[in-house]
Amino acid sequence: MGSTGSIGRQTLDIVRNRPDEFEVTTLTAARSWELLVEQAKEFQPDSVVIADKSLYANVKEALAGEPIKVFAGDEALSQVVTGSEVDTVVNALVGYAGMLPSLSAVRAGKRLALANKESLVVAGELIMAEAAKRNVPILPIDSEHSAIFQCLAGEVSPARRVIITASGGPFLRTPAEQLAGVTVEQALRHPNWSMGAKITIDSSTLVNKGFEVIEAKWLFGLQPDQIDVLVHPQSIVHSMVEFDDGAIKAQLGTPDMHLPIQYALRFPDRGDCGGQRLDFLQNPTLTFEAVDDVRFPMLGVAYDCLRRGGNSCCVMNGANEIAVASFLGGQIKYIDIADVIQQTLTRVPFVAHPTVDDYAASNLASRAIAAEIVAKLRR
Ligand code: NDP
Ligand code: MG
Repeated sequence: MGSTGSIGRQTLDIVRNRPDEFEVTTLTAARSWELLVEQAKEFQPDSVVIADKSLYANVKEALAGEPIKVFAGDEALSQVVTGSEVDTVVNALVGYAGMLPSLSAVRAGKRLALANKESLVVAGELIMAEAAKRNVPILPIDSEHSAIFQCLAGEVSPARRVIITASGGPFLRTPAEQLAGVTVEQALRHPNWSMGAKITIDSSTLVNKGFEVIEAKWLFGLQPDQIDVLVHPQSIVHSMVEFDDGAIKAQLGTPDMHLPIQYALRFPDRGDCGGQRLDFLQNPTLTFEAVDDVRFPMLGVAYDCLRRGGNSCCVMNGANEIAVASFLGGQIKYIDIADVIQQTLTRVPFVAHPTVDDYAASNLASRAIAAEIVAKLRR
């Protein structure tokens, strides 16, 4: 799911390197139909999905000579993951759009290799409950959660605390008064990772780190106060786990998503996945510092949403999607992103025990309210 994106393309690198181990059954894109067609010709899946229905004819025509079914629309995304030939779903969609396909995969009993953290931000309680009911494994692709998962492998004792590391993003040292004038280009320049546009902006505001705290709660069954965040600008320690005896385990490596993707796909086996190896002598200094919550208020807001529960994290996610798209589209300033999120959170009604329909309604409501706030800010 999302094969034309950053994680999707890196997932296909792994498949390309191990043709005897993996078979691709479905590939999906939102609008990048030409790349989707190219990938389909190379990997020969049973089907492809183009989410944007207006591009269906282009894909259908380009694949006319191939034995590949072509589907279009959002509903098809949730359907293809349930196919009988599918055993693992890699969800590399971005945003709320990934939530229903995750739920659908878990309900169909498919192993879920999850990059789409928004699935758990929006509906973590529901998705984890459905997975537990069916004994379906959810394997994290997000590097921090993969690190925690790797630290927990083989342990019988529970974690006392996890420490999620954060690079700090491009504005780690930017003074507060300069954040107002940040351009889209500056915000898209992440120091250590090359990723899709939305997560790159989320990394710069630390919304991404807040979402990772929420993701960690659901994946590992933790309370919010068992989850700490430390800025680690080198992005070598991908995260850590502390146990009752005081032992702390960390997973280290060069910043390269191929490793966590391959670990999720081949768990519990490892194997060479190319990439640069970590040389300590080239990286002799690893540093750690606290997050500055004055310049980066979104991490604290995410903890508040997590503690409040219900639909709060879903609302934060919806508002953030609109705010980030509006910033990327030049409609609002960088510092307005936080404003849009905070104001939306005060205006969408709280739902304590949301159903799937409640999540859909809260998502729509938060987007509509966030869009109103954006329109006012533009004036
Ligand atoms: P990209 O924007 O690079 O790719 C997103 C993929 O999803 C593309 O294939 C895109 O299609 C498709 N897509 C986007 N919107 C929709 C939609 N509304 N409906 C259907 N398909 C859609 O994102 P990334 O690969 O960077 O990120 C994917 C997920 O992984 C995110 O949740 C992100 O937070 C998470 N993640 C990413 C990391 C990274 O290194 N990139 C690291 C850790 C987590 P199209 O190409 O047509 O737009
Ligand atoms: Mg991450």
